[in-house]
Amino acid sequence: MADMHLNPFENAQQQFDLAAEKLQLNSGMRRVLRVPQRELSVNFPVKMDNGDIEVFTGYRVQHNVSRGPAKGGIRYHPAVDLDEVRALAMWMTWKCALVNIPYGGAKGGIIVDPGRLTMPELERMTRRFATEISILVGAEKDIPAPDVGTNGQIMAWFMDTISMHRGYTVPAVITGKPVEVGGSLGRVEATGRGVSIVAREAARHLGMKLEGATVVVQGFGNVGSVTADLLHKMGCRIIAVSDVSGGYYNRRGLDIPAMIEYVKKNRSLAGYKADGIETVSNADLLELECDILAPCALENQITEANADRINCKLIVEGANGPTTPQADDILFEKGIFVVPDILANAGGVTVSYFEWVQGLQEFFWTEEEINNKLERIMQHSFEAVLHQTLTHKVSMRMGGYMVAVARVAEATQIRGIYP
Ligand code: NAD
Repeated sequence: MADMHLNPFENAQQQFDLAAEKLQLNSGMRRVLRVPQRELSVNFPVKMDNGDIEVFTGYRVQHNVSRGPAKGGIRYHPAVDLDEVRALAMWMTWKCALVNIPYGGAKGGIIVDPGRLTMPELERMTRRFATEISILVGAEKDIPAPDVGTNGQIMAWFMDTISMHRGYTVPAVITGKPVEVGGSLGRVEATGRGVSIVAREAARHLGMKLEGATVVVQGFGNVGSVTADLLHKMGCRIIAVSDVSGGYYNRRGLDIPAMIEYVKKNRSLAGYKADGIETVSNADLLELECDILAPCALENQITEANADRINCKLIVEGANGPTTPQADDILFEKGIFVVPDILANAGGVTVSYFEWVQGLQEFFWTEEEINNKLERIMQHSFEAVLHQTLTHKVSMRMGGYMVAVARVAEATQIRGIYP
């Protein structure tokens, strides 16, 4: 089963091609939007605590900036590669267009297991990477944010480094910062909050009651843990969650607040024990019978190899790219309703946008204002995609792509081809 359409960039291009075909985009526009505009690869040295020098490889890719400055997270993970970053950058372009915020798409990453580094090593690596990609980033041109393996502290080091170069503090150069240094209230929870909002909207559309609905969540980091917590608070029964250490399953429901506390202390769910819990593999977890499945870890989790055995009514994609195009076709045939990543996890970039706006105007909003604005944008975006989906009798992914790609193509067309 090796090598079955698991290159994320090829998958992203295939998703784009399908939408371009449906929208009947002209061939010139297809050629423009199919590839990233800019790609920067950097190899840079970092002094380790024991005096050794290690060289790390990182990337920053800007896919398209027709609608505004580039926006997208930075990932620290051993499996980062250029094609993954390209795919993530392209998905950011569509996501920002879909929720109609004035950004293009970008992404960055370093090939590293951050858990292996001490805090001082992590700080030195982050500051050197920020310096290496500083030729691309800036509040008015490219604004990074957290992704897998990065967090508010790393964003603060990044902001401080760019500020030291400039000689003054530039909070709007990056989002996902701690509130103490210009971060936005509600940003930490924003992606999971958005996932729970679209899950609620999709359940309403499907006539599914959230009270007592069974939920499986893969990944228990920023996105997965907040999604599980908020769906739990909406009355759902979270029957299984997982992280890199494996899956934890109890048909009668898990104690999500206790699991979040456990991860705060122990960094992962490894070793978590409670009455009635069985352990399952990440692969088996995806196939558990449930109402709602929320993949919130990495790409390529639902593929042609397991799509047929997925046993839920609704999938909300907290992760980017968890479903391959081949799996999409199988899920569509099976009648599983999929809320695609570019819609489902857009809450994060939406509140990042709020953080950027607040930073630029040096005027901050209450958490209630932020959550209300987020709620409105997620609801409107869900309705726009559903409308497109029902009108054209296509999947929600295709509906979402049709809205997003049309907006980016239109902006590109209006601006014209320079020179
Ligand atoms: P994170 O680093 O906070 O958490 C990742 C989680 O996935 C951890 O629990 C980790 O143990 C788990 N994991 C890693 N490898 C796994 C594997 N092979 N199987 C199962 N679990 C595994 O990252 P995050 O910010 O929560 O991001 C998760 C996903 O959501 C990514 O696809 C990311 O691109 C996407 N996303 C994040 C944001 C954001 O604001 N952080 C926004 C939009 C989309």
